[in-house]
Parts: sequence; structure tokens; C-alpha cells
Amino acid sequence: MKAFSYVTAQTADSAVSLVGDRGRFLAGGMDLLGEMKDGLVEPALLVNVKAVPGTREIAAGRGTWTVGANVTLTRLAEHAEVRKVFPGLAQAAEAVGSPQMRNGATVGGNLAQHSRCWYYRQRDARCVKKGGARCLARGGENKYHSVLAHTMCLSPCVANLAVALAALDASVVVQRGAKTVTLTVAQLYEKAWTDAKAHHSLGSDELILRVEVPVVAGARSVYVKVAEKSEFDWALVSCAAAGRVEGGQFRGVRLALGSVAAVPWQMQEANAFLEGKPATDETAAGAAAILLRDAEAREHNGYKIPVAKALVRRALAALGA
Ligand SMILES: Cc1cc2nc3c(=O)[nH]c(=O)nc-3n(C[C@H](O)[C@H](O)[C@H](O)COP(=O)(O)OP(=O)(O)OC[C@H]3O[C@@H](n4cnc5c(N)ncnc54)[C@H](O)[C@@H]3O)c2cc1C
Repeated sequence: MKAFSYVTAQTADSAVSLVGDRGRFLAGGMDLLGEMKDGLVEPALLVNVKAVPGTREIAAGRGTWTVGANVTLTRLAEHAEVRKVFPGLAQAAEAVGSPQMRNGATVGGNLAQHSRCWYYRQRDARCVKKGGARCLARGGENKYHSVLAHTMCLSPCVANLAVALAALDASVVVQRGAKTVTLTVAQLYEKAWTDAKAHHSLGSDELILRVEVPVVAGARSVYVKVAEKSEFDWALVSCAAAGRVEGGQFRGVRLALGSVAAVPWQMQEANAFLEGKPATDETAAGAAAILLRDAEAREHNGYKIPVAKALVRRALAALGA
């Protein structure tokens, strides 16, 4: 690992001005330190952002909850009120890595984590995400890769919280220069859909401050994941759903899939299809078919399509349970 300087930012403004284009924000370090040890990134400066005021709180507001970027995943998963009001968010946090990891990993770091593609993570592999000419997973080992892809890069978004927060219609508040801007989850990742080099839409000096989660009366939420190991593993596919089942019908339901595309995969058409329909497995299968309509199996990842469809049905069944 190359030598680097280290500083603790005391405000969001100072974090953003200190980081420059050669530094990186450091939160729990679960992702960033791995990248540094593997020689993938060589920042000259690490800006510890965990002391930025107001970023460690979970606050219940009227109609909207805020979760600070430096809230740990353990705290989010174990927060009694979060488990009641946003069970899908707590389940997504609880399903990350291992207890040790969740004790250090933060909300902001989870959302801004980099690709887990094994070609990206292999120092000597010059893939398109690192400025190479092509995606090595295309025609290569693509078992864990996207079935919905727009750019050359097949690396999927695997961040648990991105999927849960997308279904919950959450917003992400970001310090951009001297201003704060509010992004939808779709906006937070849209650049990864159009730019093969991007992991998300944030510039290296844009700091996530908090997420804001709207409370919808009577709504439930759920997050389900399939992985090769029961602990300490990313999702092969995940699904989050949020909304209501009233009088046996789906109301205001939003779905999101993880590990199938470079972004949390959502389709308004699938959500609209569910509206007012009987909360049955047949309806759920119809929504799943819409969500996966454009999916394209590669040599080794075709299993993701039926698994994703099954998870949509499982998540919607849990919503109505
Ligand atoms: C074995 C293993 C299993 C894992 N399993 C899962 C899993 O199942 N699901 C899952 O989602 N993740 C999983 N992860 C990834 C892990 O959850 C994330 O890496 C972790 O949440 C990152 O949080 P952190 O606070 O440690 O981030 P850091 O490592 O500190 O930062 C990660 C990235 O985010 C940037 N960053 C940090 N904070 C901010 C901020 N406030 N604003 C903007 N950028 C910021 C950093 O510069 C860096 O690029 C796993 C990791 C490992 C090693």
C-alpha cells in the first residue's frame, strides 16, 4: 500500500474542500481499505468523515425519517423503531456481510461502495471500469454479473441499502461544493447506467450527509436476498418491496431488484401493474415478468432471471402476510 496522509474533517464543508481530486472519504473503511490493499486505488489523502456533525443520528420526523450517513449498519439493523416502521431497511442492513463488518460499515459507505466484479477487483485486469477497452466479464466469468446492462460494463449494483431505499422512495442528501442537493436513489446511481467507469453518480468530492425516508401510513416493507453463503456474502440477487395491501389488493407498491443491473432495478410499469390488483401470487408473477422482461442471460448468469422472479413473488407475498 502506498503512503497516504490522514485527516479528520470536522464539518461537511471542510471534508469536501480537503478531499480534492487526490483524496478519498473514509467512513468504516470496509470497502475503501480493501481497494487500497489490493492496489486498485492510491489516494494521497484519506479524509475521515465520521466526525462530521449530524451524520450519526437516526431521527423520526413528521412524515420523514432521516438516517445519517455515518450510522452503522448494526445500529440501523437493531434500531427498534426502524424495525417497526421500515422493516425492509433493517433487513437489508442486517443482511450485509458479517456482524463485525456491520459494526464498522456505514450507510454512506454502503451506498457509495465500489464494484465487486472480480475483474475490477483484480489489480492486473485492465477492464473497462478501470479504463480498459472492454468488459472482461463479457465472454468471461460472468456468474455474478448483470442480466440487464446498458453500457459495456456488466458489473451490478450490489449495495443492500440501495435496493431497500429505492423501494422506500428515499432521497439521498449530498454536500456538493457549498450546497446540499437532494437526489433520488435512481439519480444516485444513474451515471453507472450510462458510463461504464462509474460506480454511482457522485463525484469524488461529493459527500453523502443523510438519507431521508418517507413514512407512508399503513405501508410495510421487505427485503429478501439469495446468496451462496448465509453470512458474509453479497446477494446473487436481492429484491425489496414497499407498499400496502388493502382489502386484498396491492396499493402504492414499489419494487426494486439488486445485483441484476448497474443500478437498483426499478420499472414504473411493474409498480403500476400491481396497483389495485388482487394480492395473489399470480399478480406477483405478472409484475416479476415485467421487471425482468428485458433481461438477457450471459454464459453463466442465466440462473439470475428465475431467481429474481421468485424473489419478487416472495417479497410481495411477505408484504401481504
Ligand atoms: C466480505 C464482505 C461481504 C460484504 N457483503 C456485503 C453485502 O452483502 N451487501 C452489501 O451491500 N455490502 C457488502 N459488503 C460491502 C460493505 O458493506 C461495504 O463495503 C460497506 O458498507 C462500506 O461501508 P464503509 O462505511 O466501510 O465504507 P468505506 O469503505 O469507508 O467507503 C466505501 C466507499 O464509499 C465512500 N464513502 C464513504 N462514506 C461516504 C459518504 N458519506 N459520502 C460519499 N462517499 C462516501 C468512500 O470514499 C469509498 O469509496 C461486503 C464487504 C465484504 C468485505
